[in-house]
Amino acid sequence: MIKRKKTRQVIVGGVKIGGGAPVSIQSMAKVATSDVRRVVSQIKELERAGCEIIRIAVKDMDDARAVRKIKEKIHIPLVCDIHFNYRLALEAIKNGADKIRLNPGNIRKRGEIAQVVMAAKGAGIPIRIGVNSGSVVKGRGTVTSSLVKSALDYVKLFEQMDFRDIIISLKASDVATTVAAYREISQRCDYPLHLGVTASGSHDQGIVKSAIGIGALLLDGIGDTIRVSLTADPVEEVLAAKRILSSVGMRRDGAEVIACPTCGRCQVDLGAIVGQLEKKVLEQAAGYGNIRIAVMGCEVNGPGEAREADIGIAFGKDSGMLFKKGKMIKKVKAKDAIKELLRQI
Ligand code: SF4
Repeated sequence: MIKRKKTRQVIVGGVKIGGGAPVSIQSMAKVATSDVRRVVSQIKELERAGCEIIRIAVKDMDDARAVRKIKEKIHIPLVCDIHFNYRLALEAIKNGADKIRLNPGNIRKRGEIAQVVMAAKGAGIPIRIGVNSGSVVKGRGTVTSSLVKSALDYVKLFEQMDFRDIIISLKASDVATTVAAYREISQRCDYPLHLGVTASGSHDQGIVKSAIGIGALLLDGIGDTIRVSLTADPVEEVLAAKRILSSVGMRRDGAEVIACPTCGRCQVDLGAIVGQLEKKVLEQAAGYGNIRIAVMGCEVNGPGEAREADIGIAFGKDSGMLFKKGKMIKKVKAKDAIKELLRQI
């Protein structure tokens, strides 16, 4: 059982972050923000996949003004990612942003920060202090200490302005640095933490790095919301986030598929069957509820594992034995296995 670190709670467009709330899943739209039709269509696809908070890049005033139109058409909170120009944050807030992300590495004038803080306060929305190793102001110490210092300096400024609706992220592309930075800051303040490994890379590479980094922190009880960054379709980010949360036992909504690694005994294409099944159940988000599906390659460990799950199948040659709540219920052909499993679920 993971003992989560107690953090303050902030609310992003109705979604609670911190203070014991379930760890929420975020992603980021990957099309030009001013192209409202395409952004909305991508966000809706992410909503269906289980994304709970979406971020968009606001790089100019057209993007900031598009916030209102996008918000009218989506159902999850919208976070605006701001760099360099504080005026973009003011415009995004005016247009209904549910949260602003500021980068202390590139918005540094106190007077400008104060204007954004006042506007966020007026609108009742939080700000994420999003420090990245790529743009952090390097101190004399390590990258880890620069990330932490940069965030805490910003926090101090916000607190002087009596603003505490804060979320912090400290992302590095290096897993060990990221984990060390989050561990340190979680001891030094109680603001909720947004976890992620930045620029983590292509699909496979990014998933491994994110699973290690985010997973290690979650197991430590650190982290209140997560984003898996992948150079891939953002739906993959959401599916990976769901897998990470379910692997550390933090989510059981959306079925969990367990499968054997296969070996020379396996006589069906288990990889293809598991891949298709997993995609189908993950895409349904919480639609299948809290269940465990075991897909096993043969009769050695198969029936045992399959019996322990809510639904299970242990394959033989061209067919499999289906188990439900520990009981064998019928034999199915391998080619009908997915259809039959989904029917039983
Ligand atoms: Fe091999 Fe059977 Fe074990 Fe799968 S369940 S790894 S096929 S022995």
